[in-house]
Amino acid sequence: MAECLFCRIVRHEIPAQIVLEDESALVFKDITPQAPTHLLVIPKKHLGSLSASTDEDVALLGYLQRLASVVAEGMKLSSYRLVTNNGRAAGQSVDHLHYHLLSGRPMAWPPG
Ligand code: AMP
Ligand code: ZN
Repeated sequence: MAECLFCRIVRHEIPAQIVLEDESALVFKDITPQAPTHLLVIPKKHLGSLSASTDEDVALLGYLQRLASVVAEGMKLSSYRLVTNNGRAAGQSVDHLHYHLLSGRPMAWPPG
C-alpha cells in the first residue's frame, strides 16, 4: 500500500502530530479537527475500512478500541465519541481504517 496516505504516516514519510505509537497502532491528531480534541486511532496494518477486516483482525480491532479508551483516560476525557466512517456515503475519505476520537464539545445525535 505504497500510496496510502495513512500507511505513509505509519512509515513516517509524511509528518503527523503523533500522540502514541506502538507495535500495532498509531494515534495522531487530525489535520482538520472537528472538535477541541480530534485524534485518529489507526492500525499499522493496512485495512481499507472496517468492512475489509476479517476474523483474523478481531484482536486488532479490540486492541484499537482499548487503546482509544486508554488515550482518552490519559487525556482526562470524561466524554468522547469514537467513530469510524465506513464507505463514501458514510463520510469515509481516507481508505485506511481509522477511528475518530472526538471530545471537548457537546455532540448531537444522530450525527449528520
Ligand atoms: P474520514 O473522512 O472518516 O475518512 O476521515 C479522514 C480524516 O483524515 C479526516 O478527518 C481528515 O481531516 C484526516 N486527515 C487527512 N489527511 C490527514 C493528515 N495528513 N494528517 C492527519 N489527518 C489527516
Ligand atoms: Zn494504508
